[in-house]
Amino acid sequence: MKQQYQHFIHGQWRAPSDGRYFDKTDPATEENLTSVARGSAADIDAAVRDSQAAFPSWRALGVTRRAEIMRQVAAAIRAETESLAALQARETGKALARSRNDVVVTARYFDYYADLAHSLGGETLVGDPGSHTYTVREPYGVCGNIVPWNSPLQQASRGIAPALIAGNTTVVKPSEETPFSCLELARIASEAGLPPGVLNVVPGFGAEAGAALVAHPLVRKVTFTGSVRGGRQVGAMAAERIIPLSLELGGKSANVVFDDADLEAAIPAAYGAIMGNAGQICSAGSRLLVQRGIHDRFVAGLAELAAQEKVGDTRYGATMGPLTTRDQYGRVLSYLDIARDEGARIACGGGRPEGAGPKGWFIAPTVLIEVRPDMRVAREEIFGPVLSVIAFDDEAEAVEIANGTEYGLAAAVWTRDVNRALRMAGALEAGQVYVNNYHGGGVDAPFGGFKNSGYGREKGAEALHHYTQIKTVVMRVSS
Ligand code: NAP
Repeated sequence: MKQQYQHFIHGQWRAPSDGRYFDKTDPATEENLTSVARGSAADIDAAVRDSQAAFPSWRALGVTRRAEIMRQVAAAIRAETESLAALQARETGKALARSRNDVVVTARYFDYYADLAHSLGGETLVGDPGSHTYTVREPYGVCGNIVPWNSPLQQASRGIAPALIAGNTTVVKPSEETPFSCLELARIASEAGLPPGVLNVVPGFGAEAGAALVAHPLVRKVTFTGSVRGGRQVGAMAAERIIPLSLELGGKSANVVFDDADLEAAIPAAYGAIMGNAGQICSAGSRLLVQRGIHDRFVAGLAELAAQEKVGDTRYGATMGPLTTRDQYGRVLSYLDIARDEGARIACGGGRPEGAGPKGWFIAPTVLIEVRPDMRVAREEIFGPVLSVIAFDDEAEAVEIANGTEYGLAAAVWTRDVNRALRMAGALEAGQVYVNNYHGGGVDAPFGGFKNSGYGREKGAEALHHYTQIKTVVMRVSS
């Protein structure tokens, strides 16, 4: 890790224009890791102007050459897998194996969108005699990409790769909590042959650097991944500027298990769906709806898995790391108080793990039972290793509870009855629905929210359309 991180603009490290830096804290030890350039409106302006200057020649390269460069970037990411994975694990606190997987997926985004390069065509329309009409997909120009802190590499790259293959250039504002991996990603891409200015990264705070990016007149499209609160603020700014926006926001996803399900598979999957990354996954299965007859057995299985979890500093063998930010740690603790006040019972966990010591933002894997759908812990996103278990009696009740929140990011159903699986998949209000699995789907599977979980889609061919605008050309043909 570097002693001090700068912005990455025009293929180079660049000091902040006003000389300000902020400290980044290690979530596992609460020690200062290093200082990071604090992006100001002036830094954003420099990054965006540079990106705008790079746009015409990047676009003019054409898809074949852009795809070649993207593949070079993918290979270069893979070549640095270990160091990149360790860096992201350090800034987030997540387990190294999980971080390594994030790097693999990050490289895959660049390869996948390189593969889709030649699918960016338009259509020829059936016109009246004397006219010839066709459409083309054109890039926007500079795209802003605002990234949260839970899986920064994956979240940044799933916006960068489709934007770039479509001929756009991009400026990324990572969360100030996890800036290192995005900065190193830009450095790796640059060394692999991405021309200067095509990918610039400016770390900083949302209200300062993030807001300046959305407000910048040369930014023609924004992708925001983060909270509903942040999404609302960015949405208001984008509406004012009349620029397109993709919003990838929070979730309170329902994992619905019927009593005919394969419990050997469903119990560990339900555990992993919420406890993976210490619950800091937007599409985490944070509500477990379990049919009453299997409730006790299911909860006992979850508690057994929780007892095996080693919570601590993942550099020394822990399987579950800390919460990534101090604020998030406080927020999760406050939800545990809310759960007790509301009358939920704690089947396991419920606070700091035993023997955790005074430092580090650790929370034990927690299973809340006797949760009612109207409780705050059943409706609000906690974003930590806290599972709210709700018992249900029949399919209609399961659907009503599952759809009874403001969110609609993901949902899952577990059953051996294919008819019920299909009915549930149709009825669940969510952008991704998993049947007899959780968190399935790769870089090719469109991902995004219904309701307050956002709009627009990332991943898959669908995302490409969000980084292009259609131009219709109508020609008069003389006879
Ligand atoms: P957040 O507070 O909304 O911040 C997300 C990003 O936006 C950060 O870089 C943040 O900068 C910036 N930001 C905040 N307010 C802004 C504003 N007014 N203008 C411009 N930028 C602004 O969210 P978070 O706490 O980092 O992330 C956790 C949330 O993200 C959870 O709700 C989670 O569900 C959601 N999430 C969604 C997805 C998805 O794909 N749907 C994926 C991952 C996470 P600062 O860090 O300086 O605030």
